[in-house]
Amino acid sequence: MRIQLLISFLIAGMFWSCQPTPEEKVVAYKTPFELGTGNETATYEETIDFYIRLAKEFPEINIQSIGETDIGLPLHIVTFNSDGDFNFQKIREKKAIILINNGIHPGESDGIDASMLLFRDLALGTLDTPQNTVLVTIPVYNIGGVLNRNSSSRVNQNGPAAYGFRGNARNYDLNRDFIKTDTKNAASFAQIYHLVEPDIFVDNHVSNGADYQYTLTHLFTQHNKFGGVLGEFLNEELQPALENSLGGAGWDITPYVNVFNRVPESGFSQFMDLPRYSTGYTTLWNTLGLMVETHMLKPYNERVQGTYAVMKSLIEITEEKGKTIKELRKQALSRHQHWTYYPIQWKVDSTRVTKLQFKGYEADTLISEVTQLPRLKYDRDRPFQKPVPYYNYFKPSDSVLIPRAYIIQKGWGHLQDHLDRNQIVYSTIQKDTSMAAEVYYIEEYKTRTRPYEGHYPHYNTRVRSLSDTVNLKEGGLWIPTDQPGIRYLLETLEPAAPDSFFNWNYFDPILQRKEGFSPYVFEDLARELLNENKELSQQFQEKKESDENFNASSYRQLYWIYENSPYAERGFMRYPVYRVLQGE
Ligand SMILES: [Zn+2]
Repeated sequence: MRIQLLISFLIAGMFWSCQPTPEEKVVAYKTPFELGTGNETATYEETIDFYIRLAKEFPEINIQSIGETDIGLPLHIVTFNSDGDFNFQKIREKKAIILINNGIHPGESDGIDASMLLFRDLALGTLDTPQNTVLVTIPVYNIGGVLNRNSSSRVNQNGPAAYGFRGNARNYDLNRDFIKTDTKNAASFAQIYHLVEPDIFVDNHVSNGADYQYTLTHLFTQHNKFGGVLGEFLNEELQPALENSLGGAGWDITPYVNVFNRVPESGFSQFMDLPRYSTGYTTLWNTLGLMVETHMLKPYNERVQGTYAVMKSLIEITEEKGKTIKELRKQALSRHQHWTYYPIQWKVDSTRVTKLQFKGYEADTLISEVTQLPRLKYDRDRPFQKPVPYYNYFKPSDSVLIPRAYIIQKGWGHLQDHLDRNQIVYSTIQKDTSMAAEVYYIEEYKTRTRPYEGHYPHYNTRVRSLSDTVNLKEGGLWIPTDQPGIRYLLETLEPAAPDSFFNWNYFDPILQRKEGFSPYVFEDLARELLNENKELSQQFQEKKESDENFNASSYRQLYWIYENSPYAERGFMRYPVYRVLQGE
């Protein structure tokens, strides 16, 4: 009898030791951030190991590697779904999906640690389990940067003790690379984004522009640029809902304080997230985008908790509004069918001002002991709350007529990789043919004089268009615009759009002449050309009379005649992507 009792005690003991209590599980899954002093961020290895352990134990969590990064390691995505289903095609039929990106700027590591806490708490059930929302996170996006761990590259930031570096393995800022895609990281992101097709996208950052009372700021994708009912929903429902939810939980949040080395009181405008930025890119497919920007002068512990609070609130809001968001996004798939023009440039609408009840610190301009020149100094002993003008309405300053299709001439096929990874539908021209199309000539552009993100980008680009009969070669690409990726096409293929492939130097060879003329020989031909063409001759005379410099330069005059002759290069400044307009 005694022996039997002993055995049953032993079995009970074994059973007990195999089934840890929830409290024990919390201990078992403490993150490096929690195990330290609150001023440590997990290393790359610790982060991935942590998620692998979670995925092994909890059927609601899955980890998978997707694509490469420049450092040679794969990206990962970790998914939490209460149903344990990780087939995105199936998931999106019934649930809303939030994609959270971390460590794009590894010195801004808050999101890496906050997401670990969030997924752990969801797994353990210490946080309400979302039934209608699925969470996906990229634990570390800039892996090369995270592995470049140091304690000095965020000179003014208040923790953590050690962190990664902003540039990736090849020193690219990944938050400028979503369109030009110089890095494998960006190519893999496109793969992940189009696999997951998130309804909401969150990119976790840390901000540095000014001092103020808030730990948290939000940088939503610009709502006018987003446009339509979804843009309104973002501005009038999602943002206020997030602000209220966080305010109720003791986390005041304000729009991203878009100033540098000046006080915010005089007002500031919303940040315009062009498609080169993460949320600007995800907007192209109607994903509601949010960059969380915590304030770098607040203690690390507080920033991580704040980032956690934003994501928690966003889950709660998505649980409530997910159905509406999904419905609006579904409707948005065909909204372009009502568009005629597409805005490619934006400016602040100064007639529309939002008043923020801003909680800042008074600042003084003192004389610097270092430079003996005026310097800005915030005084945290003098907090204030006052109305501050916030310019968060933008209006288009330039638009283009939307073509029915674009044609990329044969020879520029390397652009196909970009189209493919962004799931653009196109067909290949099967045989040589000619047709009427609109052709652009690059009329004007400026070029940065110093490198920017591996390029010497162009800007202030202007085009001149003309109708022409274009000869198309077999192998060229025919790209209809009536497809979900229409905004991607317009933003990349319209040369005057800020993040166009033209502005990112993809078409630079057309900007250089390959042939020319020798003035001492061309003289005689120029004379013949003028003699033969009365109209040309008249224009030439008029230009001589109206333009003094022209009249004084023999070379410029000959050049003008050459330019207007059949000998001029047809390919010079001629953009090799043609536009087929509606009705053509
Ligand atoms: Zn950042």
